[in-house]
Amino acid sequence: MKKRLEMLEQLQEIDLRIDSLKNGQNSLHGEVNGIEQGLDAAREELAGLETRIAQLEQEKAEREGLLATEQENIHRSESHMKEIKTNKEFQAIGREITAARKQTTELEEQILRTIGQIEELKGESAAKSASLAELEENTAQRRQEKLVEIAATQKDIDTDLAKREEITKELPASLLKRYNSLRGQRRGQAVAVARDGYCLGCNMNLPPQLYNSLFRGDEMISCPHCQRVLILKQQPAA
Ligand SMILES: [Zn+2]
Repeated sequence: MKKRLEMLEQLQEIDLRIDSLKNGQNSLHGEVNGIEQGLDAAREELAGLETRIAQLEQEKAEREGLLATEQENIHRSESHMKEIKTNKEFQAIGREITAARKQTTELEEQILRTIGQIEELKGESAAKSASLAELEENTAQRRQEKLVEIAATQKDIDTDLAKREEITKELPASLLKRYNSLRGQRRGQAVAVARDGYCLGCNMNLPPQLYNSLFRGDEMISCPHCQRVLILKQQPAA
C-alpha cells in the first residue's frame, strides 16, 4: 500500500509538471499566433493601399479618356465655326465650346487631384512596405525561437509521458480511474499531504482517528473534506 501511495505521489508530480509544460507550450503557441497575426495585419493594410491606388489609377485613366474626347469635340467645333453662315448657329456652337471648355477644366482639376492622392498613397505604401519587410525579418527569428522552444517542451512532455506510462501500468485500473476523476475535480491535484492533523490539500482539520490511521499506512485514506488521497508527511524533527 505504501508503495502504491508513493507511486500515486510520483504520478501526481509528473502530471502537474506535464500540466505546466503544456501551459507553457500553449502560451508559446499563442505568441507565435500573435506574431503571425501582426504580419497578416500589416500585409492586409499594404494590400488595401495597393487596391486603393489601383482604383485611383483607373479613375484617372477614365477621366483622361473623357478629357481627350472633350478636347477633340472642342477642336471639331472650332473648325466647324469657320464654315458657319448664320449668327444664330455661331452663337449655338460658341455656347457648346464654352460648356466643353468648362468640362475640360473640371476634368483637368480632378485628374490633378487624383494624381496628388496617388502620389500620397504611393508614399504611404512604400513606407508600409519597408516596415513590413523589417517586421518580417525581425519576427522570422523570434518565431523560429518560439518554435524551437515548443519542440523542446514537447520533448520534455514526451519524457514525462513515458515515465507516467511506467507508473500507471503498475497501478490498478480502479485506482487510476479514481485518481483521474479526482484530478479533474480538484484542479489537477488528486493527492494531498497530511501533516500535523491537517489535509494540506484543503487546509481542513482531519478527524484524529482518521489521521492516526494514516500512520499505519496499510490502507488508502481520503480526506473527508476534499476527497483527495492522503499521504502522511511528518515535519522532520527540529
Ligand atoms: Zn482535504
